[in-house]
Amino acid sequence: MILYTNIRRYISMKVLGYYNGVCGPLEEMTVPMNDRACYFGDGVYEAAMARNGVIFGLDEHMDRLFNSAGLLDIQIPYTKKELADILYDLLGKMDDSEIFIYWQISRGTAMRKHEFPEAGVTANLWITMKPGSCKEPDSSLKLITVEDTRFFHCNIKTLNLLPNVMASQKAVAAGCDEVVFHRGDIVTECAHSNVSILKDGVFKTHPTDHFILPGITRMHLIQECKKLLIPVDETPFTLEELFDADEIIVSSTSKLCSAACELDGKPVGGKDTALLRKLQESYYKRYLETTKG
Ligand code: PLP
Repeated sequence: MILYTNIRRYISMKVLGYYNGVCGPLEEMTVPMNDRACYFGDGVYEAAMARNGVIFGLDEHMDRLFNSAGLLDIQIPYTKKELADILYDLLGKMDDSEIFIYWQISRGTAMRKHEFPEAGVTANLWITMKPGSCKEPDSSLKLITVEDTRFFHCNIKTLNLLPNVMASQKAVAAGCDEVVFHRGDIVTECAHSNVSILKDGVFKTHPTDHFILPGITRMHLIQECKKLLIPVDETPFTLEELFDADEIIVSSTSKLCSAACELDGKPVGGKDTALLRKLQESYYKRYLETTKG
């Protein structure tokens, strides 16, 4: 059940916050200090785009959320359907047609100690919604490379994102859009996207092991490749292959299938624009058609 403390103001709104059944303008929301998200980043999250009242890829996002929570022994006190109903209920209160939805589940609220709280403490649900947009994907991204110093649980979409935060700030300071992480010679993913390459007509991307987040967009792009008869190679590739790629594709919920034109200040990609456009257009069409409303 969602509580509205001032019904008049919540009929429609710009940026919305929700915490365990209470919702309101984000800037008026408060959360308990002892929520374990605050101390340990002890939780998992998802982010999805909605357009015309349809949440794109929601089933896949829910599956990943429950998988991430399961890997951390966090019990989500809702079914996927109940969670989806809450998201759709809130989405109905938003003004804009394109909305960025973020939701997270933290382990619960308890005095700070590393071990899990006693039985009876239930997980907390946080949601924010704000206007956002997926523009038609282009090839204008500027990237920098950064050594991947994250832990070995990158497959879990946890709130623990400090190396991603630090690396993203480096990109901003360099006037760039994203970071490509690498462990030694091997390219893993980006700070908040996956990275793949087109080389000799093949879509090459890191396998979904514990070194990368299994991106929903990455998964969708592989499906698009199969539809378009583009061969897919899920094996790790090197920094040298990245610089030498015909195209560098950066994929995420909000970027969809964008491509890079610059890496560490050097021009990259632009060598298979026809295949890139085919994939970009096919995926953008899927996004638009699925979210026609
Ligand atoms: N990799 C990381 C580290 C991310 O944070 C994200 C998105 O937030 C992605 C990849 C792309 O995932 P998705 O396509 O599900 O948005």
